[in-house]
Amino acid sequence: NTFAEIDLGNALNQNIRRCKYVKPTPVQRHAIPISLAGRDLMACAQTGSGKTAAFCFPIISGIMRGQAQVLQRPPPRGVRTVYPLALVLSPTRELSMQIHEEARKFSYQTGVRVVVAYGGAPINQQLRELERGVDILVATPGRLVDLLERARVSLQMIRYLALDEADRMLDMGFEPQIRKIVEQMDMPPAAARQTMLFSATFPKEIQRLASDFLSNYIFLAV
Ligand code: AMP
Repeated sequence: NTFAEIDLGNALNQNIRRCKYVKPTPVQRHAIPISLAGRDLMACAQTGSGKTAAFCFPIISGIMRGQAQVLQRPPPRGVRTVYPLALVLSPTRELSMQIHEEARKFSYQTGVRVVVAYGGAPINQQLRELERGVDILVATPGRLVDLLERARVSLQMIRYLALDEADRMLDMGFEPQIRKIVEQMDMPPAAARQTMLFSATFPKEIQRLASDFLSNYIFLAV
């Protein structure tokens, strides 16, 4: 069982080789086929389990296959609201930066553009990056709410949502922000969105998030 046997699209398979990933980790081995099949997923995953690739690969592969959307970038001059196709929510600036860095390696020469936005840093540089176009937005909840309130980002085109370290986001008090964010994705048929929730623990609050945000999901404990 190797990545070479999983067809994720030529450019992505090549990037995976370049990153020297040969064999999927357990969470990747199970999560990637589930996501490629279009199913929602709640997965138990610790730091170091390879969860970043587990959610990045299906998202990048899926966006590559929907070329029309990718070719719309960059947005026309004067249009300042951007419409990412995928959103990755993460609890901290550090984790967001790490995810962004990995996702950029995986999306090299795929035409898929990844942008990161986190709090505790000036917003202007992030706005400039967003204006150049974004397919996958990696963000912390507070900064994303700010961008939504400024109407700089719209979530109406979101096809993939990944919640990373969901338990940590709730511990940090981000539940109201997360709910506000996900509410903005409910305009088109909710079935059009694919959602992946990663968490190290599964208290009641996480189970409630899962039943509110995921539809007909598979629970993966590896
Ligand atoms: P993560 O749990 O996503 O933070 O990944 C932990 C570390 O393992 C990162 O440095 C990844 O680059 C690396 N990694 C993830 N998946 C694989 C894999 N299939 N083969 C080799 N290294 C991997």
